Amino acid sequence: MRQSGQSRRLLIGAAIGGGLLIALIFFWIGYAARPPPDTSGLQALADRYRALGRRERGFTGQSVRAAVRRDEIGRHLSSLASRPHIAGTLGHRATAEYFRDVLSGLPGFEVFTRNYSVPVGMTVGQGESLFTIVYSNGTVVESQRQEKELVKLNLTDQVPPILSFTPSGNVSGLVVFANYGRERDFEYLQQLNVTLSGAIALMRYGGVGRGKKLVNAAAYGCIGGIVYSDPADGWAVPGRLDDVYPNSWWLPPTGVQRGSAKMRQADPQTPAYPSLPFAYRDEFDEIKQQTDPPVFSPIPGYPVGYGDAMKLLGVLEGANISSYVKGGLPIDYRAGGSFAPGVDHARLVVNNRILEGVNAVNVFAEMKGDLEPDRYVLLGNHRDAWGAGAVDATSGSAVLLEIARMLGQFYSDGWRPRRSILLCSWDVEEQGITGSWEWVEDRLPQIREKVVAYINIDIAVRGNYSIRTNADPLLQEAALQALKNLPAQDGGTMFEEFKRRWLDQDYRLSVPIGSSDYSAFIQTAAVPIIDASYVADPKYSSYYPLYHSMYETLPVMESIIDPGLRAHGEVAIWGVEMLRLLSETWLLPYDEAALIANIRNRFNSATPPSQWGWPASAAKYDKYVNDTWKEFDSALTALEAESARLGSAVQQLQERIDAGSEDIDPMSVRGFNDRRMRVMQTLADPGALLRDKTLRNLVFSSQTEETEISAGFPGLQDLLAVAKKRSNETEIWKQIAQHVSALVFRMHSLRYQLQDSGL
Ligand SMILES: [Zn+2]
Repeated sequence: MRQSGQSRRLLIGAAIGGGLLIALIFFWIGYAARPPPDTSGLQALADRYRALGRRERGFTGQSVRAAVRRDEIGRHLSSLASRPHIAGTLGHRATAEYFRDVLSGLPGFEVFTRNYSVPVGMTVGQGESLFTIVYSNGTVVESQRQEKELVKLNLTDQVPPILSFTPSGNVSGLVVFANYGRERDFEYLQQLNVTLSGAIALMRYGGVGRGKKLVNAAAYGCIGGIVYSDPADGWAVPGRLDDVYPNSWWLPPTGVQRGSAKMRQADPQTPAYPSLPFAYRDEFDEIKQQTDPPVFSPIPGYPVGYGDAMKLLGVLEGANISSYVKGGLPIDYRAGGSFAPGVDHARLVVNNRILEGVNAVNVFAEMKGDLEPDRYVLLGNHRDAWGAGAVDATSGSAVLLEIARMLGQFYSDGWRPRRSILLCSWDVEEQGITGSWEWVEDRLPQIREKVVAYINIDIAVRGNYSIRTNADPLLQEAALQALKNLPAQDGGTMFEEFKRRWLDQDYRLSVPIGSSDYSAFIQTAAVPIIDASYVADPKYSSYYPLYHSMYETLPVMESIIDPGLRAHGEVAIWGVEMLRLLSETWLLPYDEAALIANIRNRFNSATPPSQWGWPASAAKYDKYVNDTWKEFDSALTALEAESARLGSAVQQLQERIDAGSEDIDPMSVRGFNDRRMRVMQTLADPGALLRDKTLRNLVFSSQTEETEISAGFPGLQDLLAVAKKRSNETEIWKQIAQHVSALVFRMHSLRYQLQDSGL
């Protein structure tokens, strides 16, 4: 049976084989007899596939430096900073037109806009807010209503001093001095038996945000808040209060820092949703009622210069608290609660309003990538400014336009980026990061799918000491790499120069978690970000003294801060190289190991659950969290091992790319890039910050509560800060337990994302 079966199979096999051979011969004859088929389509496809394996190319660092034109930057700076342009004014509307015109004329770019209808905070009329000191004899001393000394400028539409989104009011009474307006500053006054109820709180900038100062003051019974810039906080040199603008860049006594006092970013009427025409909007009356957490200050607030603050401090009595305050004014700082003889009361008048339906116009310019057009590198800056805003943010706007011109020039020379480049001119940033945030909410799924990185240049130049780049851990190394690729003006590389400048400090980069247009990208979308500015020597000023005052003018920029616009040019050069690097490099230059190390540091420096002060009523959650905390530790250990595996895979692939290997499958590189692009997104959680649903990054979000420590995890810190005040509410301890569980889950989620495996 076996034998015969085999021979039968052989026979059948031979027959089939012979048949096939004959068929093949016929096929070949037919094939040869016919004209050759058109394979150009297939060939083009194969060529295109092979082209996906293109190595980095394009312009050199030297050619970037040669291309920059400071006269062009100066031209834009003069045009844009010639008049105030806060959102809702005519000057503001003109800037959108200017951007559209300039960008539309550049080769390689397609220009479009995305608009949102948003509210902005404004004053009623001009200069109707002020404070007065009223003497018993009827004498009245008024605060100034506008900056003076605007030399060589004829600025119309000046913005009067304002803390936008605070309510109008007309309040009078005693004044207390509450230092930075932190919770502990009010506690300190309480310990001194100062009556806070019914008083107006005088506070200085720093410590906590504008809105938080007022909310704290209200919580202690104060009826109004006045905020000023104390010279000791870097706004002027104590003891040298004569050496100020217009002779130097230090803030004069009349300079006033304006700003938003809104406690939630973006349009507060549409949290987590875009402000499109059909959007459901919460009523302002409802939003004003929200107290946990509050969105608006319940009491009127007003900013003044230190000249006016001196007038008030000069008539305060009460305990001398100068040693607690450590201020920079030539005066005794007193706690207040009573006035010097002859003074009857102080009055604060605030006339604010909310202008609804302002058109926030985000202007975009897109240069399509030739190989991966559906992957994007973004670079953005905001266009609106308090006043002329030569520093914030017009320096950045002028630099963005020069970056666009340089890219257009390289495009004309034949350069094409692998991935698409999108330049973004954001609107309404100064009223609480509104234009960019609304766009991120609008395009969230697409951003998460397509965005490789967001590069932010808000203020391009606020000093002439050194460039300072910051980034989330995934991109810190790449931000430094761009500096390494660029020659410095005086020889060596920009990185060497950078290292020299920050030698006596830590030159490693930090993670930007403040308030600018990068906020929605990292905190809501959880995509990688970089932020850059040219800054002052931190020995002299940690920021820049004229911040948000009417003195941020062209002359101060061109003659004091950045003569010759050298620093502007340096930021433009860095911006172009950063865009080239991220849009060209085949294998994306992310550093996952740095991300995991950052999370590990946070875990190690966090206060362990045993010290959280669990009340007896929350014992069951206490036990649960103690176990979960151990799981957190081991999840991190597993994550570290996975990250090491990924690191060596990246290194091996990079070596093959560098060696010019021909057999690398471009689709697998693309898949690898995509997986790594979404690593940060595994940290996005709807409950990241239970107190603000617009913030979703469990690790890199800003805290909403005041805490002394900033290490650890923001959502957990917030909950622990609330638990400290409301320890006997079991619900808060339950939320803490849920939050720790979410953190551990996200560590596993992050590990799955690093793993090279299926579902
Ligand atoms: Zn800004």
